[in-house]
Amino acid sequence: MVILQRKELTLAERLYLPEILRGLSITFRKFFKKAITRQYPEEPLPKDEVTRGQPRLVVKDDGHLACVSCGLCEAACPAYAITIDGHEVDRPIEREPERFEIDMLRCILCGFCEEACPKDAIFMSDELELADLTRAELVYGIDKLKRPRSALQKRIDYVYRINDRWRNSSSTP
Ligand code: SF4
Ligand code: SF4
Repeated sequence: MVILQRKELTLAERLYLPEILRGLSITFRKFFKKAITRQYPEEPLPKDEVTRGQPRLVVKDDGHLACVSCGLCEAACPAYAITIDGHEVDRPIEREPERFEIDMLRCILCGFCEEACPKDAIFMSDELELADLTRAELVYGIDKLKRPRSALQKRIDYVYRINDRWRNSSSTP
């Protein structure tokens, strides 16, 4: 029969002194390093054209939505966040959305709607903040979603540039 002998702990080990001193030394070293905590919201998040915030609908210069209510973004949305009801109009585009809703609590900011849209009518904005008092308020309708094209211009230019890159590389023999 083998009898295991436990090592006798010293007084310092019984008081966890080595671990406490190691922990304090790490705290002491970090104390003098530059803090990397961002004081949000006083210090807002950096935003640029690559920022994929909440999707927004483009309003053209004539004041109408660019959307023709084709439903492709609704079909592409993996989170089932988009609901569209369209109706016919007399203008050349023939259809426009009567109801266009995005449930922001479902939206995962994936950008599939932006990619699916054949009319460049929906783009990812740089709007990231989302807060309200009820769930219903976070289902955004047309009024909350629409933005003038100029407000989304940086993102639109970026998406065109990215798409051109793929178009050019696929046309290269
Ligand atoms: S960003 Fe993604 S999840 Fe959000 S509405 Fe568009 S497709 Fe749906
Ligand atoms: S894919 Fe574009 S045009 Fe079609 S319903 Fe969505 S936003 Fe409108």
